[in-house]
Amino acid sequence: MAKKITIIGTGYVGLISAVGLADFGHNVTGVDINKIVVDTLNRGEPHIYETGLRDYLHKNLDSGRLTFSTDVAASIRDAEVIFISVGTPSNGDGSADLSQLFQAADDIKNNLNGYKVVVIKSTVPVGTNRKVADRLAADGTAVDVVSNPEFLREGKAIQDFFHPDRIIIGVESERAKSVMQDIYRSLYLIQTPVVWCNLETAELIKYASNAFLASKITFINQMANLCDAVGADIHAIAKAMGMDGRISPKFLHPGPGFGGSCFPKDLRALAAMGEERGVRMSLVREVIQANNAQKLLVIEKLKDLLNTLNRKTVAVLGLAFKAETDDVRESPAVSIVDGLLRAGCRINAHDPIAMDNFKKKFPDITYCDHEYMALQEADALIICTEWNEYRNLDLNRVKQCMKGNLILDMRNLLNREQAKQTGFIYRGMGR
Ligand code: NAD
Repeated sequence: MAKKITIIGTGYVGLISAVGLADFGHNVTGVDINKIVVDTLNRGEPHIYETGLRDYLHKNLDSGRLTFSTDVAASIRDAEVIFISVGTPSNGDGSADLSQLFQAADDIKNNLNGYKVVVIKSTVPVGTNRKVADRLAADGTAVDVVSNPEFLREGKAIQDFFHPDRIIIGVESERAKSVMQDIYRSLYLIQTPVVWCNLETAELIKYASNAFLASKITFINQMANLCDAVGADIHAIAKAMGMDGRISPKFLHPGPGFGGSCFPKDLRALAAMGEERGVRMSLVREVIQANNAQKLLVIEKLKDLLNTLNRKTVAVLGLAFKAETDDVRESPAVSIVDGLLRAGCRINAHDPIAMDNFKKKFPDITYCDHEYMALQEADALIICTEWNEYRNLDLNRVKQCMKGNLILDMRNLLNREQAKQTGFIYRGMGR
C-alpha cells in the first residue's frame, strides 16, 4: 500500500531516495532546511549531478507524488513514515558528528501526532538508532525506529536505488516490519535480497562494508606502489587476483587514494567507535593513514622528477573524488592541489562537472573550460579522476600545449607506450 513519506535532508542520499520512493508510487515530501535547495528542486533542477536524476525528478514532480518543502514541522505531522538522511560528518576527533541527526529527531519528537515509523538512512555509529528511539519514546507516543543504511554509489545512485545488491533493515517490531515491506514492495518483487536484523547489526553492516572496500582499495594501492619499485604490472596482478572467486575483481583498481563523503569519515568513525569500547581497530587506523599518504604520493613523485616544485605550472585533470559525480568532499584532488600550492606551484584545473564545487575550496587557482586549455604552458600533467574524456586525450595535442613533458597518470587511463613514443616521461600506478 502506498505510504505518505517525509524525507528529512535532501542531499545525495535523501534526494535519490525521494525520487525513487515516489517512483514506487508513494507520496513523498523531501524537506530540507536549505531553502535554495528546496526551491531549486521544486523547479525540477537537481542541485547535485547524478546520471538520470533529472528525468526521475521531472517525472515524479509531474505525477504529483513528489514535492519539496522547508516546512519540517508540517511535513513530519503529515507523514506516516519519516526517513532521516541528514549529514553525519566527522568531529575533530574523528567520531561522527550527530548534531544534524539529533536536530531532526527533536523536530520529529516535537511534532508527533500519532504512530510513525522513523527510518534512519544516515550512516550512524552503533547505538544511535536506539538512542533516537529512546528519545522519541520518552513522552509515550508510539514510534518505531528502523535502521536502513544506504549503500548507493555516487555516479550510479539511481541505478543502485532501483537495483540494490541488498537492503538492510534493522527493525524490532512487527508493525514497523510490515510498513518497511510495503515501502520496498517494488524491490521485493524483483527479488532483491533483504537482510532483517536488529538495530545494532544494521548500523555495523554499513561501517563494516565501507571499511572492507576501503581496505581493498588501500591494499591494491600498496601493491601498485610495490610494483613500481620492482617492475611488476599491477593490472596483471589485479586480474589474476580477481579470478579467484574468494577475492572478486571489484575494487582492485589502483589510484590516488579513496575519497568522497563516506569512506574517509566512516573509517574514522568506526575506529573511534571501537576504541571507545576498548576494541583495537589497528587495521582501520592503518588504512586511514596509508590512504592519506597515498593521496600525497604524486607530489613526491613530481618533486623527484622536477627537482623543485616552486613556480612550476601543473595541469590537474579531474577534481571529483571519482568519475560521474560533482562531489569533491575529501577528493584526492583536494589534498594534491593543496600540497602543490604549498610547494609553490601554479595550478590549471579542469573537471567536466565538479569545478563549481572545487571553486568553493580553492577560489584562486585557474579553472579551464576545456582539458586542453588546462595544459597550456604546463610543466606537468596530473590525471586525478577517471573521467572517460581523459582516456582518449590526443597526446600530440597535449605535447603541443605543454611546456614540459611529464605525465603522472594516477588512474592509468593513458596508453603508456604511446605516451612514451610521443616524448613524454610517463608515470602511472604500478605499471
Ligand atoms: P548531504 O550533506 O549531501 O545532505 C544532507 C542534507 O540534509 C543537506 O541538504 C542539509 O541541508 C540537510 N539537513 C541537515 N540538517 C537538517 C535538518 N535538521 N532538517 C532538514 N534538513 C537538514 O549528505 P549525503 O551525502 O546525502 O549523506 C547523508 C547521509 O547518508 C550521511 O550519513 C552519509 O554518510 C550517508 N551516505 C551517503 C552516501 C553518499 O554517497 N553521499 C552513501 C551512503 C550513505
